[in-house]
Amino acid sequence: MAANKSLLLLPGDGIGPEVMSQVKRVIEWMDRRRAVRFEITEDLVGGAAIDAHGVPLADATLEKALSVDAVLFGAVGGPKWDNLDFKIKPERGLLRLRKDLGLFANLRPAICFEALADASTLKREVVEGLDILILRELTGGIYFGEPRGITVLPDGTRRGVNTQVYTTPEIRRVARVAFELARKRHSHVTSAEKANVMESGILWREEVQKLHDAEFPDVRLDHIYADNCAMQLVRNPKQFDVIVTDNLFGDILSDEAAMLTGSLGMLPSASLGDADESGRRRALYEPVHGSAPDIAGQDIANPIAMMLSFAMALRYSFDMADEADLVEAGVRKVLADGLRTADIMQKGTARVSTSVMGDSILLALDRLAA
Ligand code: NAD
Repeated sequence: MAANKSLLLLPGDGIGPEVMSQVKRVIEWMDRRRAVRFEITEDLVGGAAIDAHGVPLADATLEKALSVDAVLFGAVGGPKWDNLDFKIKPERGLLRLRKDLGLFANLRPAICFEALADASTLKREVVEGLDILILRELTGGIYFGEPRGITVLPDGTRRGVNTQVYTTPEIRRVARVAFELARKRHSHVTSAEKANVMESGILWREEVQKLHDAEFPDVRLDHIYADNCAMQLVRNPKQFDVIVTDNLFGDILSDEAAMLTGSLGMLPSASLGDADESGRRRALYEPVHGSAPDIAGQDIANPIAMMLSFAMALRYSFDMADEADLVEAGVRKVLADGLRTADIMQKGTARVSTSVMGDSILLALDRLAA
């Protein structure tokens, strides 16, 4: 039996618990069928934690998050808590987790499942088989740089300022994550900046190149201007493997890449922090979607984004690439069989509930692993 692997589950609010309960079934399946034992703890976050403890993230929950190998997060928020003071809103729970776990690298894969290729706004041949990863620096750059603010000038006009600022360690640590991830994929990193017009872009390019030459010469590295990257993502996205970029460009490019492949209910994400002595990185995995109060409690939410977030945890926190492949293959199989939750319905397919989608993925896992 392999060593214990610890996971903290934070289902949260709205559809969070519904989609998480399907992932729990896959975790149990892994325990039974793959000779790995996950040590699972579950706790409250967001509105559920406010109702129980008066705060969106209790200190004890944060302690647990700091001690496990990975956190699996559902979604938080809902109308019940909309009018609370900003400081104790459900979303603050997630922000505190991101901050206190030091999650500086945000990963958003854009994977196009063959069965959904026709749902994309791009042509089938452009997106079919797409599997790329956008890595966005999350805690630095123009969203945090000083000086910032709006001032009134002597002539009465106003001036708004934000500052794009990056230091060598900030660039190197996110670039390191990019190279490490690329080694688990197709060994190709594209670094996007605006070195043609921004000094911070020149520094970014030079530092990424230096780190590459010193420690990752086996990984192919290309540099691209961020505006060209935006164009290439819709022209020929399959040319990329891992794209690493700063906070601002990453914000835009990750949304663009995600939408190449369709519905919110299909999009997983991960946020990674610093590595400890053993090389283990703090990590939080979550679907891109929110708590979807409009469909909560109806057993109609799509659990696939949550399921694929767990697959990312298997791949990036637990080095279980085979099991990650298996979960993704299970999802691919049910989609190919024509099963769809309401959000991804297409002509000629069968509509199923959240729990039936879970049943079908488990059945697919049984068959694939037989
Ligand atoms: P949302 O992502 O919750 O929902 C947007 C739309 O997509 C809704 O129509 C919803 O029904 C649909 N949708 C989302 N996920 C789906 C799924 N898995 N299956 C099927 N349909 C799905 O965004 P919103 O409506 O802007 O926000 C709702 C609440 O979620 C708010 O309280 C917001 O603050 C919160 N939120 C939380 C997070 C998070 O926890 N990370 C992220 C975004 C929004």
